[in-house]
Amino acid sequence: MPTSLGDRDRKFLWHPYTQHGLGIPPLEVVSGRGAWLELAGGRRILDAISSWWVNLHGHAHPEIAAAIAAQAGRLEQVIFAGFTHEPAVALAELLVAAAAERGTALRRVFYSDDGSTAVEVALKMAYQFHAQRGAPERRRFIALAGAYHGDTLGAMAVGEPSGFHALFRPLLPEVDFVAPGDAPALARLLADRPGRHAALIVEPMVQGAGGMRMHDPGFLREAEKLCREAGVLLICDEVFTGFYRTGRLFAFEHANLKPDFITLSKGLTGGFVPLGATLATEEIFAAFASDDRSHTFMHGHSFSANPIACAAGIASWKLLHAPACQRRIEAIATATAAGIARLARHPAARHARHLGTIGAVDIEGPPGYFSTLGPRLYEAALRRGVLLRPLGNVLYAVPPYCVTDEEIALIYETMERLLDESGGGSGR
Ligand code: PMP
Repeated sequence: MPTSLGDRDRKFLWHPYTQHGLGIPPLEVVSGRGAWLELAGGRRILDAISSWWVNLHGHAHPEIAAAIAAQAGRLEQVIFAGFTHEPAVALAELLVAAAAERGTALRRVFYSDDGSTAVEVALKMAYQFHAQRGAPERRRFIALAGAYHGDTLGAMAVGEPSGFHALFRPLLPEVDFVAPGDAPALARLLADRPGRHAALIVEPMVQGAGGMRMHDPGFLREAEKLCREAGVLLICDEVFTGFYRTGRLFAFEHANLKPDFITLSKGLTGGFVPLGATLATEEIFAAFASDDRSHTFMHGHSFSANPIACAAGIASWKLLHAPACQRRIEAIATATAAGIARLARHPAARHARHLGTIGAVDIEGPPGYFSTLGPRLYEAALRRGVLLRPLGNVLYAVPPYCVTDEEIALIYETMERLLDESGGGSGR
């Protein structure tokens, strides 16, 4: 009897964010096309969350697949210390030109592996920048309550302290948190610990994993001003919000920020292969360029600037900026607004909200990542053929840009049925 894929998986694998003790078997995916995943046995599932927000143009997009194949046949990988190559330079040129057009001073691209490493790089660069300018006591970071910036130690440190990483707090450097929207608290913090902070890190406009929480651009502008006055650097983590998720290429544009760093990953390659990038200003870069070798940025990954990943990034960028994709992004934003407006009228719905292609609603019930509501909603959506992965009691959609109006309607109808079945809203 040949063993099934599920049995082989159960025997040897350990999945991310998965409690194996619950014994829930993973779904077997054999292929993907457009916004759909095809399972063994032929069942199809609509990927309403772009597979953890990475996919931009649909699964197995032929143009990105071809760019990857061509690059793999030419140069698959080369050490990036002391060497360079066309895909790394060409992708950096695209990113820097776009950042410059948006009025920022970001001119340098440092490649890494994923969102977490892009964040680690920004944090380390910020600290080293101050240290090399004679202010090594600037070693605290400021982050926003409810934040999520990744799962490595530095990235966890700037994430919500009472969230699902709470266990690891004793291992992490101390970070000061302020609530999004609370500029006076930020001002007090900066005044209480003058000259102690290296940088403020924010997910501009939308805190993703923290529950698709949205904040006001006015707060971001105020925060930037306070940081400037206090000599504190600004890091915009665009790992989730970048690449038009919020309707603009970068979410910092909504507040017209001029960040010292931005971090990118996920959609950077269209969601095909991992790649991280940290963009920094020329001023930051200049503080490291010296004849003193100890001023080198001592950080790098085996696969930094992997040529295949960079080639995927260039192919994805071309698709993203084609008029057809730009029109779809606008249409998705319109359809998302309509879907959310409908959900807002549901008695079990709380805080229906949207920005660009992101739509979210809280469902009446126990909040928090470990509430049993999330897994129940997840199962119920899958039974209806839609992949949603609720964050506790938060239902949301972040679809790939190839999604049709009919598919968006199916996503929001599914959410409406989940609200119906939740039993919430009774007595209102
Ligand atoms: N920053 C943000 C805002 C994210 O949403 C994520 C991942 N969800 C990360 C960083 C970490 O990215 P990765 O999972 O690729 O390490």
